Amino acid sequence: MSSKAMDQLRSALGECVDIEAAASVLYWDQATHMPEGGAPARGRQLSTLSKIAHEKITNPKMESLLIEAENQCNDFPEDSFEHSFLRVARRNFERAIQVPGSYVKRASQLRCELYDVWTRARPDNDFKRVSSLLKENVALSVEYSSFFKGHAHVADPLIDHADEGMTAEMIKTLFSSLRPSLVNLVKEITDEKPFDDACLRQNFPLQAQWSFGEKIIRKLGYDFSRGRQDKTHHPFMTSFSIGDVRITTRFKEDDLSEGLFSTIHEAGHALYEQGINPEYEGTYLAAGVSAGVHESQSRLWENLVGRSRSFWVYFFPILKEAFPDRFRNLTLDEFYKAINRVEKTLIRTDADEVTYNLHVMLRFDFEMQMLEGKLAVEDLPEAWRERIKSDFGLIVSDDKDGVLQDVHWFSGPVGGVFQGYTIGNVLAAEIFEKVTQAIPDLQDQIAVGNFEGLLNWLTQNVYRHGSKMPAEQLIRNITSGKGLSSKPFLNYIESKYRTLLR
Ligand code: ZN
Repeated sequence: MSSKAMDQLRSALGECVDIEAAASVLYWDQATHMPEGGAPARGRQLSTLSKIAHEKITNPKMESLLIEAENQCNDFPEDSFEHSFLRVARRNFERAIQVPGSYVKRASQLRCELYDVWTRARPDNDFKRVSSLLKENVALSVEYSSFFKGHAHVADPLIDHADEGMTAEMIKTLFSSLRPSLVNLVKEITDEKPFDDACLRQNFPLQAQWSFGEKIIRKLGYDFSRGRQDKTHHPFMTSFSIGDVRITTRFKEDDLSEGLFSTIHEAGHALYEQGINPEYEGTYLAAGVSAGVHESQSRLWENLVGRSRSFWVYFFPILKEAFPDRFRNLTLDEFYKAINRVEKTLIRTDADEVTYNLHVMLRFDFEMQMLEGKLAVEDLPEAWRERIKSDFGLIVSDDKDGVLQDVHWFSGPVGGVFQGYTIGNVLAAEIFEKVTQAIPDLQDQIAVGNFEGLLNWLTQNVYRHGSKMPAEQLIRNITSGKGLSSKPFLNYIESKYRTLLR
């Protein structure tokens, strides 16, 4: 049963979804195939599309349609499509209406310029070149927050945008439940002789890496008839519809793990989007529900599956065939140790499962301080160096391996981005614990290359729902009411690494 207003609203919002998908195609093209000369026009085209989408969604006609549909459909049960559709439509409308169109355009232009300058400042190791634009970006982020009322912390609206229902306070609590154990474990592991990972740093022909990666993700369940893979500088997943979910990857000839694990990571994001209920197509429900839940899926496939021993029981012989001579004298256990080497390093994206969250905490703390006005942008490189020294005992000699390394602050808001990575790591372990209870022989299935049981469980419990229920409710459902907890993650890494150290 539906109403006329509901149908009209669905079709009007469907146009917004289409415009945003068209913008995503342009982003994807920019990051994969576009010639350099296309850059100035592409920035303009994207900013035009974001302006049109914003105008459409904040149009007074949209609000009256929304009110009418809400009035006609208020007796739909809470678990119905209509109820969720209206909840998400109302949330998106309320968010959009608070933010002036002129701000949307200004922010989009500044961030396009900042990103462009950053792409050159980073290789040139020149923080000064981005510093004044970054300062403006911090101010824009604070301004964004000021459009919303009733929050306790300036970062809350930014966090809520990516991870609905979460606040700065909740993130701080989560981080402090992780940090002491992580610091201890890192110390314990790095005091030992590091695992030898030289086997991963031989010469690996790019075409062979590409084929091997593709073989893996096909086996995991990534559907190439509803997606494709291309090369890029910074790998990402993007969805234009449930029938077209694309991934990108990058390879290094002298480092197997880079391309291998980023391919599995992005495929994990894509399995989520490909698994959404097809009935949600063309609506805002046809998307992963939050940054943290999304990252839980990429990290689950990348780490809990892709860096597990069972996974390589199946894939190690195939790897040996793909790269003849490279692993001739290596045992499965030596390879397993190599891909799980723990090391204090400068770069977040290269970090192992144990040190990774410490990188996230550092960035989150700096975001908070910048938004609170307690850390000036000019002082950021030095603050970064000091924190790396105290957290990792390392010297940052170049800002390109320090404050300039991540694209986030130079292309989007400052605040609300990094917490999703740690929520993802924590949630991945929590979800995997549940799957293991439901499928007691899961590791045996993985060891023979059977991922169907795992994928089906995740599809039924996570993927098919898309954004139908808020992230918090989805997490509560999966965890039998417990909610987000760092315990399963700590149990997982402590038991994994203590076994490895033996
Ligand atoms: Zn990711």
